[in-house]
Amino acid sequence: MQSRVIDGKAVAADVRAGVARDVAALKAGHGLTPGLAVVLVGEDPASKVYVKNKGEQTKEAGMNSWEYRLPAETSEAEILAVVEKLNNDPAVNGILVQLPLPKHVNAERVLNTIDPNKDVDGFHPVNVGRLWIGERTLVPCTPTGSVILAKTVQPNLSGMNAVVIGRSNIVGKPVAALLLRENCTVTVAHSRTRNIESVVKGADLLIAAVGIPEMVKGDWVKPGAIVIDVGINRVPSANGKTKLVGDCDYESCAQVAGAITPVPGGVGPMTIACLLQNTVEAAKIQRGIK
Ligand code: NDP
Repeated sequence: MQSRVIDGKAVAADVRAGVARDVAALKAGHGLTPGLAVVLVGEDPASKVYVKNKGEQTKEAGMNSWEYRLPAETSEAEILAVVEKLNNDPAVNGILVQLPLPKHVNAERVLNTIDPNKDVDGFHPVNVGRLWIGERTLVPCTPTGSVILAKTVQPNLSGMNAVVIGRSNIVGKPVAALLLRENCTVTVAHSRTRNIESVVKGADLLIAAVGIPEMVKGDWVKPGAIVIDVGINRVPSANGKTKLVGDCDYESCAQVAGAITPVPGGVGPMTIACLLQNTVEAAKIQRGIK
């Protein structure tokens, strides 16, 4: 049986439309136009593309967008000064410092300087703590997007056995916290997990965030499971170029899963949509709006 393909592009478009409605309501009801400032240090080509897309989509949703492009040799002190200026600017509701930062900069120090209520990436330790204790907070974007996609298949995840492969601070751990909040029974697998195939086989919901191309095979997957593939891996393709694949072997997993995200076109498009959602949420938190 071929599984249902979860269309991340379509779901991301729905999320962006919801953000645009929220922005219109905030403008009309509170005279508030949420704004996102993105700081880009250096010339990394992929980062430039991400930042451009973020700026365009922020404006399309009716929000203010600012870009701070700093040369690669900018000192850490200068970057921290920009972050402090944005922290103190009431028109700026969300601050995103694009990673990776140049090697001479302590990324942790920069990220931890962002006001937690403007931390739209959700990486600040204050927000990590709020997530785990169940308080209102800004949640990392890719994990939020992954859970939204799973809920398009099964709106109530309560009681499901969820297996997350990967325990990074940006994907694995926050997605595990979100699934716990959804009342799943959560198992987090990682590089030291023994007999990972049998762990995965118990999953009603599988979230793969490993970074190993096509690691998860169809015969690991429980028939009918929801498979959310966060992986983005560039591998050689038959025509001598490269192609993107996920952490799941799509062909074999799609024969067994009930629903599956493709790569590309699954989780990827959700990340910026959830960033826009976080910018609105940040504006509401700052103004004390429910
Ligand atoms: P990290 O490299 O930070 O973490 C990878 C995790 O996978 C680690 O916890 C590691 O375990 C675990 N792991 C490594 N090898 C194995 C193995 N053989 N078996 C089981 N677990 C293993 O990666 P990220 O979390 O940052 O990213 C994961 C993937 O998601 C990547 O492909 C990345 O490109 C993609 N990604 C996609 C995004 C999107 O927008 N769609 C956004 C962010 C990431 P251990 O802790 O033990 O080392």
